[in-house]
Amino acid sequence: MASGARNGGGGLGSRTTAKMDRQQGSTATPKAPAGKPRLSAAGGGAYRRTSSGPLPAAGAGGGRNSSESGVSSRVRVAVRLRPRNAEEQAADADFADCVELQPELKRLKLRKNNWESDTFEFDEVLTEFSSQKRVYEVVAKPVVESVLEGYNGTVMAYGQTGTGKTFTLGRLGDEDTAARGIMVRAMEDILADITPETDTVSLSYLQLYMEMIQDLLDPVNDNIAIVEDPRTGDVSLPGATVVEVRDQKSFMDLLRIGEAHRVAANTKLNTESSRSHAILMVNVRRAVKGRSEMNVSMSAENGHSSSMMDSLRPPIVRKSKLVVVDLAGSERIDKSGSEGHTLEEAKSINLSLSSLGKCINALAESSAHVPVRDSKLTRLLKDSFGGTARTSLVVTIGPSPRHRGETTSTIMFGQRAMKVQNMVKLKEEFDYKSLCRRLDIELDKLIAENERQRKYFDDEIERITAEAQYRVAEAEKECKVSLENEKMKYHQEYLDSIKILEEKWKVHQQSPKKQIKEESTSNGDVQDLLQNEKMLRQSAEDESNDLKNQLSHWKKMEATATAEVVRLRRMLDTEASQKDKLEEEIAVLKSQLMQLSLDADETRMSLDTGDGPGKIFPGLDSLMSHSRNSQPREQSNGPKAPVAKLFEQVGLQKILSLLESEEPDVRVHAVKVVANLAAEEANQEKIVEAGGLTSLLMLLRSSEDETIRRVAAGAIANLAMNETNQDLIMAQGGVTLLSMTASDAEDPQTLRMVAGAIANLCGNDKLQTRLRGEGGIKALLGMVKCGHPDVLAQIARGIANFAKCESRAATQGNKVGRSLLVDDGALPWIVKNANNEAAPIRRHIELALCHLAQHGYYSFSLTQLK
Ligand code: ADP
Ligand code: MG
Repeated sequence: MASGARNGGGGLGSRTTAKMDRQQGSTATPKAPAGKPRLSAAGGGAYRRTSSGPLPAAGAGGGRNSSESGVSSRVRVAVRLRPRNAEEQAADADFADCVELQPELKRLKLRKNNWESDTFEFDEVLTEFSSQKRVYEVVAKPVVESVLEGYNGTVMAYGQTGTGKTFTLGRLGDEDTAARGIMVRAMEDILADITPETDTVSLSYLQLYMEMIQDLLDPVNDNIAIVEDPRTGDVSLPGATVVEVRDQKSFMDLLRIGEAHRVAANTKLNTESSRSHAILMVNVRRAVKGRSEMNVSMSAENGHSSSMMDSLRPPIVRKSKLVVVDLAGSERIDKSGSEGHTLEEAKSINLSLSSLGKCINALAESSAHVPVRDSKLTRLLKDSFGGTARTSLVVTIGPSPRHRGETTSTIMFGQRAMKVQNMVKLKEEFDYKSLCRRLDIELDKLIAENERQRKYFDDEIERITAEAQYRVAEAEKECKVSLENEKMKYHQEYLDSIKILEEKWKVHQQSPKKQIKEESTSNGDVQDLLQNEKMLRQSAEDESNDLKNQLSHWKKMEATATAEVVRLRRMLDTEASQKDKLEEEIAVLKSQLMQLSLDADETRMSLDTGDGPGKIFPGLDSLMSHSRNSQPREQSNGPKAPVAKLFEQVGLQKILSLLESEEPDVRVHAVKVVANLAAEEANQEKIVEAGGLTSLLMLLRSSEDETIRRVAAGAIANLAMNETNQDLIMAQGGVTLLSMTASDAEDPQTLRMVAGAIANLCGNDKLQTRLRGEGGIKALLGMVKCGHPDVLAQIARGIANFAKCESRAATQGNKVGRSLLVDDGALPWIVKNANNEAAPIRRHIELALCHLAQHGYYSFSLTQLK
């Protein structure tokens, strides 16, 4: 055990002057160890509490957390002198006190005789005039404060019976509060310092007599066992009554009860209180608030997870114990043996006290063995001497020289005790019980909160579900209404469409009727045309009926679709696509209706004007197509039929007579019909027989209208395919008429017709000379300036035809001399167009060149070509 105390490390002062005041002749005065702190008065006589600086605090980990390395703290010892009592004042009146106190020097002089004394230093020297308050402050207060900080503490009084141990420790001060002893004052300070909400103070009050521990709070409990923790060595008295103290009054009551029990027990045991040890054990349990607050703030910086960890960290508690021991009288038993105990009993009575003395001696001498286990008192005070407690001893002495021996022995006890070093340690530990309680409360709170939230969520879900159901119902209702509206709208549109269609049909029916009526007044035969038209209309009506059937079919389809839509009304996408589909079908239907109407218009227009897109003159087109491409006719199958019927029904004579009608329109219609008929080879003879050719030639001569001339020329061209007709055309001056038409015409199609007609005539062997004579070749070549490929093709064909006939005549020997074609200047054009890009032109020219070569112009031609 360390012999030197750390300056300032203890609670009882820091003065280190330890000079021994040797009186003359004195040799036995024990020397206080150099460098040891001593009790010192700090300002105004009050003891300065120099509680330590860096006392080790509990570590964060581990179960038990008393600081591992304690701070060295010497047992503090004060000496208190009792004033002379009445008996002493009388008996010792002539004698001086056996001690002389020098409190300012903290010295006590023990007189050996009149001229010799020993001087002893104590941590404090308390004279007979020292107040109870001062004694408390010097002896006990630093220990009490230390206990409140978490250290164990011991305050003990040692001395001869009657020197004031109980007076110092146990006075209640009922009559005079100034007389309150250390126990009362200590408890006042403790109760004043603790926080009732977090800290607890409890106590046990015991008496040790004849090595038996009696419970002064429950006297039945008269042999309480000391239990030692095998791990820590801490001793405890689990059998003792422990009472929690909340206020000073209840503490005082407990002290009184204890005292009363002590008196009763001593009576029963036939002893005196001076022979027993009274032990008050005060347990202080305090929560370390500052630490946990610091932990929380640190954890807040480290984030949520460490805060969680901290909430699971048990709070730290400091458990400290204040032991106040009023020892039995220290006088030798044999000396006070008035009680009549046997020597064995006396030994037993004094066992604890003598053991304490031995232990203190051993500790003071740093002996290897300290006989702690020899008595119950030393076992109970194990922590107070050589342990971890802060210990303060007050030795009480009387002034009487008659008791010098006891006084000396008491002083020596105190001196030895001053050499005992303790290692004070903080008694901190984790408070798992409190953590458990806190977590239980937290858990209850969380469960309650959880239930509250669950209920809230359940309510929310219920509310949202109800709202959603309401909205769905609303949406369904709206959807149903809008679907119904849509359906009605479409239905109405269909009805309107049908109505419009029917109105159109009525208009169609009325309009031609009206016209036919007018025409029938001018020409009854046109009624037949109308009849024909009626048939056409009938077919159109059939088509309309078909369409109506389609409509009703569509309506059925729509009904099915509507049923489908109703079934899938919640699926808005499907509904939308269905709607689109319906709209598409409506569009198709409308376009069909429009087409029908257009067809009807066209039919009507055709009949009105006769100016159709080739339907009336398919023959002419096919003729041209035939002559150009040598391909079979493909057109005129459908639309020709009504014209042919017309021809049969109306009669050719009537149609031809219309060519001379006063009405220009009628003439145009008639010439188109005739031309159309002339396109058919079967009709050509009949037309010519009925005078149609003559009428056509007349039109060519007389008509101002180029359309008529063009159509007439086309018809003549068709008729000119026949050899007999060619003769007739020539005979009636057709070549001259065609030449005139060619020179007047501006429309390439007119020129094409004229060129076609002349080209056909060019192919007649017998008419060569006459054709040339009437200017046919020149007219043909004159049309070259038009430049239209169709016209040029006809010209080339004419030249080829002509050249063929000439070469044929030359071959047969019928013809001699120059080519008429060459004479009329055809050769340059032939040569020029021999490589024409248009195949029909090129082919006819090549043919013409072949014929010319045979005729004797071969070399010429080749020369020209080269
Ligand atoms: P102990 O407990 O040591 O046997 P007590 O405390 O019973 O001694 O004291 C014996 C007597 O001396 C008591 O009457 C007590 O009032 C008185 N006495 C003790 N100390 C003082 C003191 N400092 N001042 C006045 N009277 C005292
Ligand atoms: Mg006493």
